Amino acid sequence: MTDLVAPDTRTALRREVTVRGIVQGVGFRPFVYGLATGLGLAGHVTNTGSGVLIEVEGAHEAVYDFCDRVRLDAPALARVDTVEHRELPASGSAGFSILTSRGAAAGTLIPPDSATCAECLVQLADPADRRYRHPFITCTNCGPRFTIVTGQPYDRDQTTMAGFPMCAACAREYHEPADRRFHAQPISCHDCGPRLRLHIARQNPDAHADANGREPAGASDPVPLARRMLADGAILAVKGIGGYHLACDAANRDAVALLRRRKSRGDKPFAVMARTIDDIAELAEISDAERGLLVSTARPIVLLRRRAEARGALEAVAPGLAELGFMLPYTPLHHLLLGLDADPPGPRLLVMTSANLSGEPLAFEDEDALARLAPLVDGWLMHDRPIHVPCDDSVLRVCDGEPLLVRRSRGYVPLPVDLPEPVRRPTLAVGGDLKNVLCVASGSRAWLSAHVGDMDDMATQRAFERAGQQLLAITNTTPEMLAADLHPGYRSTQWAQRDPARPHVPVQHHHAHVASAMAEHGFDGRSRVIGVAFDGTGYGTDGAIWGGEILLADYAGFHRFAHLAYVPLPGGDTAVRRPYRMALSHLAAAGIAWSPELPCTRACPEDERHILGRQIERGLNCVPTSSMGRLFDAVSSLAGVCQYAGYEAQAAMELEAAAARWQRDAPAAEEGRRYRFDLRVPADAHASPSTDTAPLTADPAPLFAAIIEDLAHETPPGRIALGFHDAVADLVRELCAAARERHGLETVVLSGGVFANAVLSSGCARRLREAGFRVCRQWRVPPNDGGLALGQAVVAAAVRDGDV
Ligand SMILES: [Zn+2]
Ligand SMILES: [Zn+2]
Repeated sequence: MTDLVAPDTRTALRREVTVRGIVQGVGFRPFVYGLATGLGLAGHVTNTGSGVLIEVEGAHEAVYDFCDRVRLDAPALARVDTVEHRELPASGSAGFSILTSRGAAAGTLIPPDSATCAECLVQLADPADRRYRHPFITCTNCGPRFTIVTGQPYDRDQTTMAGFPMCAACAREYHEPADRRFHAQPISCHDCGPRLRLHIARQNPDAHADANGREPAGASDPVPLARRMLADGAILAVKGIGGYHLACDAANRDAVALLRRRKSRGDKPFAVMARTIDDIAELAEISDAERGLLVSTARPIVLLRRRAEARGALEAVAPGLAELGFMLPYTPLHHLLLGLDADPPGPRLLVMTSANLSGEPLAFEDEDALARLAPLVDGWLMHDRPIHVPCDDSVLRVCDGEPLLVRRSRGYVPLPVDLPEPVRRPTLAVGGDLKNVLCVASGSRAWLSAHVGDMDDMATQRAFERAGQQLLAITNTTPEMLAADLHPGYRSTQWAQRDPARPHVPVQHHHAHVASAMAEHGFDGRSRVIGVAFDGTGYGTDGAIWGGEILLADYAGFHRFAHLAYVPLPGGDTAVRRPYRMALSHLAAAGIAWSPELPCTRACPEDERHILGRQIERGLNCVPTSSMGRLFDAVSSLAGVCQYAGYEAQAAMELEAAAARWQRDAPAAEEGRRYRFDLRVPADAHASPSTDTAPLTADPAPLFAAIIEDLAHETPPGRIALGFHDAVADLVRELCAAARERHGLETVVLSGGVFANAVLSSGCARRLREAGFRVCRQWRVPPNDGGLALGQAVVAAAVRDGDV
């Protein structure tokens, strides 16, 4: 050995550690405190504008261990994006402390609302606990966040809990670093928290007997009466995390029918909240992936396949569809309403549907709920903790084993989408007019708002403005640019056009869909992909209604490579509500007679048929459309599956359900007829490769002729439905192969509302992969118009300054 002095491992190491991501409002500082003290480290931790800042000092091994575990062992609701550290001179200090927050929280992420955790549930049911049956029990690992935040930084006085000063006992827990409720902003107890009340409707003669338009006297806990009312078939408005639900006993057909009637709901399915996952398992099949979603902290509605033997049980809840949306309780009040183990039995399955009249936005303010929901309910189970922004339940389905967000809202908002590179200017994208969602992009992040809804009434437009303001506030963003749909009639577009101060970038609808999928998959958007955008409606650059589009797109622009052949959309919205009109329009375009024995002809009243015939012949009030959604409607009608759409995409969803049943139950040897489209190649298609030519068109005429032949042979609708799905997937493969041959592109993205169809999505992905393509589908951002704003934002960011 030499006389070199070995490093003295007993010398303390000090490091500054910066953790970024979702690290505030999720119990991160107490976690750091516990971790550091457990490892015998000195130092401190504090919230800063950019995350959590830690200094730790102690033995080398312990400091290394700390830096690993701060990421690996982070609390359940945290999301650690980066951990950076640098060495500091050791100070010899002792003890570990939590310092008060410093600085505004620019760029700090607000966590989403989260389901009541297991520890809180134990206390909720424990008669010895001081929060026994407390309907607002919460801790750092659970409870409301996004919906109660009024500003930054995330502290109690910047939430709607500001009006509930903590009692001494709660304050002790709040200030005790070792406590599960240390700095949990929404905590409270029976003494200091919000209060429940049951307000019983005066005007409903069939309301509960001891109701007289007053609060039940002396009822400090109104839950038992609310449970009895539900058991007796009443409909209650129940205030939740992000708004009011309408609740009734899902197993009570009369109550469900009454709710459907009062809500003017048509056949639209209701979501069901079940007491336990076993209650769901009796009615629906649950895969591991679906189970994982149901019990996740986001507690979304998960669309599940009904058990065949249980089909009758909930027929009133979701008539006709093979799938049914289920969720588990996610607030303490839900758990109380469905009954703790020691409670007398009550309904185990509740319809829990967003409290609104059809078309209107979700009710979330108490006065509004009392006024607007009066015609719908027998009582209101409400409380005095305000909801700052409304947030509907999220909806997912599992496709090929992966969760697909159909509606991205509570539990997911406001988690950001990471962008591959920073946007040049902060941008607000306003989305579309259906399923409206806004998006704020700033730096390398994009934040999508909660589901706002359809922009056809004033109340929704107000909700849209409010959602935009809150999103800008919590992300600390001042947008310098706006992005909107190309459609001149969209309210969202007009709102952007009215802004005098900021430039507004119009983005073609299907380009936005494709860009949304590219952004979700982290594409920088500089090279083109093959974008398959299938949906119901989107304004095209030629003024037609597009919707069956193959675009070669990057963020800056697109070339329309192929589309469905145009057919007349007779009477706009009327054609959407009556799928038989689309079927007849397609038959007319294909030169096929409207034979009286066809299901679509039979469904169309004779006088309407005459008018329709003239309308199509003369092109009156007939916009040309290449909509894939409308083609699904037409086939659904022709196959006799659905003639009237009481809610959006009903005909297409029922066609998918029929195809899915056939796929599953048909004998394996069953080989359906192959339906096909005619591809028309434009005259200039033989120009030099890589030049953009006039689009190819896909004509479904041969498909309609083949289906009519099958109908004559009494082919079952399920077989026709599956044959049609296969034909569309074959078409996608064929068109993508043509695009690859001509332009050398290997990557395909699938987007648009039609790709919420699992049979189609799965069929397309399988064929494309077999053909050697890289396939990107949308999972974390909805493929439907709920994901549109993300695409608008990245397209706007790619527009050169001179072009705005
Ligand atoms: Zn908890
Ligand atoms: Zn208290």
